Amino acid sequence: MIHCRNMMKIYKLDNEIEVIALQGLDLDVEKGELMGIIGSSGSGKSTLLNILGGLDRPSAGKLLVDGKDLLRLSDKELVKYKLETVGFVWQNNARNLLPYLTAVENVELPMLLKGRHKRERAIELLEMVGMGHRKYSRLNQLSGGEQQRIAIAIGLANNPRLLLADEPTGSVDTKTADIILDVFRTLNQQLGVTIVIVTHDTQLMKKMDRVVAIRDGKTSSEILRRRIYEEE
Ligand code: ADP
Ligand code: ADP
Repeated sequence: MIHCRNMMKIYKLDNEIEVIALQGLDLDVEKGELMGIIGSSGSGKSTLLNILGGLDRPSAGKLLVDGKDLLRLSDKELVKYKLETVGFVWQNNARNLLPYLTAVENVELPMLLKGRHKRERAIELLEMVGMGHRKYSRLNQLSGGEQQRIAIAIGLANNPRLLLADEPTGSVDTKTADIILDVFRTLNQQLGVTIVIVTHDTQLMKKMDRVVAIRDGKTSSEILRRRIYEEE
């Protein structure tokens, strides 16, 4: 699903200073894999997710996602790729929900579909993340973890083949984190969605197929699930 070689990302600041965010990153992700990415702050994790999601472009290297060469896509093609292939679960998603609208209205809002299908699809998505029973609750009646699941439902609206999540369990308790991870697992196993999750949560990492560490803009090591267990 993802094949990335020697990828570079250099940010040019106004004063001609360059920041090297990715320097020769290699990464392969299999279709249907649930993969974790760890790394300290500033190591390049968000830069990588943004590039994989078509929100930003690499400066150099090779990057194929779902058979597409992201370096060669035109701006228009990149937007199409983003809309049709990728789903995002950012921590901010949950913060951007509208508190006085219901769960189902929040899920409908960013959808491009029209009319009744939109409502049906929104309900289907809420059921997928185990929130069907709260579809008519206003967002301000839901706990932080429940809101996070609404954010995941929104990320799934376009049936993405690749789901990118940045600290999806960042602000929730262990129990809710487990529920969220189960949602990801289900998507992964039943729908074959490839999922890449940036996280610091070691509990969450244990449940992934594979965890890769990024350091100074490079993939520094591959930590298999088995090894994480052994290290504890
Ligand atoms: P992480 O997500 O692991 O914390 P980032 O990808 O956000 O790391 O950042 C990697 C490096 O790139 C950091 O040095 C950061 O300051 C820099 N950086 C990230 N985004 C930008 C930007 N838009 N402009 C300039 N520098 C950036
Ligand atoms: P958490 O411990 O995960 O933050 P809360 O204690 O906030 O959970 O909420 C527990 C349950 O009560 C949740 O199902 C939430 O949806 C519900 N709830 C919380 N606040 C309200 C409210 N103002 N009105 C209706 N239901 C609420």
